[in-house]
Amino acid sequence: MKHTPTPAASTGLAALEAQLAQDLDLLELPAKPWVPTRMDEGAPVRDVVVIGAGMCGLAAIAKLVLTGITNVVAYDAAPAGLEGPWVTFARMQTLRSPKTLNGPSLGLPQLTFRAWFTAQWGVEAWRSLDKIPKGQWMNYLVWYRKVLGLPVRNSVRMTGLAPVGDLIAIDIEGAETGRVLSRRLVLATGRSGLGGFAVPDFLTGIDRAYWAHSADEIDFDALKGKRVAVIGAGASSMDNAATALEAGAGSVDMLIRRKEMPRINKLTGIGSPGVVLGMHQLPDAWKWKFFDYTASTQTPPPRSSTLRVSRHANARFFLDCGIVAVKEDAGGLLIETTQGPMRYDFLIAATGFSNDFNGRPEFAAIAPHIRTWSDGRYTPDMGPARAGMSDAPDLGPAFEFRERVPGSCPMLSHIHCFNDAAMLTHGKVSGDIPAVSAGADRLVRGIATSLFAEDVETHFANLIAYDTPELQGDEWVDSTPVLQKEAAL
Ligand SMILES: Cc1cc2nc3c(=O)[nH]c(=O)nc-3n(C[C@H](O)[C@H](O)[C@H](O)COP(=O)(O)OP(=O)(O)OC[C@H]3O[C@@H](n4cnc5c(N)ncnc54)[C@H](O)[C@@H]3O)c2cc1C
Repeated sequence: MKHTPTPAASTGLAALEAQLAQDLDLLELPAKPWVPTRMDEGAPVRDVVVIGAGMCGLAAIAKLVLTGITNVVAYDAAPAGLEGPWVTFARMQTLRSPKTLNGPSLGLPQLTFRAWFTAQWGVEAWRSLDKIPKGQWMNYLVWYRKVLGLPVRNSVRMTGLAPVGDLIAIDIEGAETGRVLSRRLVLATGRSGLGGFAVPDFLTGIDRAYWAHSADEIDFDALKGKRVAVIGAGASSMDNAATALEAGAGSVDMLIRRKEMPRINKLTGIGSPGVVLGMHQLPDAWKWKFFDYTASTQTPPPRSSTLRVSRHANARFFLDCGIVAVKEDAGGLLIETTQGPMRYDFLIAATGFSNDFNGRPEFAAIAPHIRTWSDGRYTPDMGPARAGMSDAPDLGPAFEFRERVPGSCPMLSHIHCFNDAAMLTHGKVSGDIPAVSAGADRLVRGIATSLFAEDVETHFANLIAYDTPELQGDEWVDSTPVLQKEAAL
């Protein structure tokens, strides 16, 4: 749905920005910078570097700055305005989330999507808005970054990490190239977390001309008239199938292993501040139980995305259709399924993402040392092991990594995993829109606490050195001499 800005749109946004500035002023935010400056052999040292300036990276860096931790920067490999999935590989038309979620607004009403939207298009347009168009969500994130003046550098990729004393050296390439030193590192690297695409074994060795992952760049025009298969029954499978159909694909088959489509969005259904605040404090066995159950029941695709596929006469849904093997054959693919052989020109694997830290070169220095749930936090009495959960990182209370072998990689305790891979330890507070502000709050409390403790001697020295009197000495008179005089009488 397109919204025509009201004549008052620009003044509306300007008024909102003025109101936000006033609210920040009333709350004395940002707090004044309080972390001591640090140098290393003449080189400047950042307090925190954030990698990724998608929604989580922006919320994290905004919360750091508001908390007075201002010697910070976020780098994103994507050009400005193209961070995250929204206008790149997200192929849905609207967000699935309700429009009213307060998302990364960090408790500031004027920073919500709703305030931003209403300031430009008015209350009536807000009422008639159903779901948020994905491009509009991206525009909101662009504004969020601009209005808070966040220190983000685009087109800069982190390519490697190394310890330098108690600091982390971060190699960057792109619009800026070199090595940056930082005391803390936040990995807000998105849904692929620390791994990458999850690709089923049966696609190993199959020429990329015949298949793509749903998060790849896909030339949908090239699928015109072609027989397309899509694996999976989640939101991305529907969005990719619909995009192929709308681009004129000859046919699209959804190959779904399950006997039934998942129909109930379980975890969203019980969403509450209790879940947001309480999940990470639960005993591990309970955490496992919640996420094992939701992984087994699965999240259904949104109704609108499913209808966007099924409204095409050339779309078919095959349930109970597991894939046994895939072969290149006669200029296409021959797919052996549990329903028999099927032939296609192209396949899209909407098979999600993995936690395989070894999959990304920039994490090579830390990958072998990261402690996961399978290193003792998961125990068989919690239920059967499950890929995607057993390999989840075993994180500390501020999303910091832990070492598999104590002493093997101490910098891990200063690297914070603020992305989807944190879900099993922390609940859903570092990936999806609903609770990202709570996640950023937890992250920044932890970082502030540990920076303060690390600098305790400086803070104590500052205490001793502080000598600005509040009293001038002329506010009272010492009456003791009077007492002495009285005693002498
Ligand atoms: C298709 C899709 C639709 C979704 N729809 C919804 C929805 O409707 N509601 C909801 O609540 N959630 C939704 N989500 C889930 C979640 O909200 C999004 O994944 C969201 O983008 C998460 O934000 P993020 O900051 O963690 O990751 P991202 O937005 O993916 O940002 C990560 C950033 O890190 C950068 N990066 C990664 N590695 C490096 C590196 N080495 N160096 C520099 N930069 C790097 C990337 O360029 C990227 O911009 C959706 C997810 C997807 C994939």
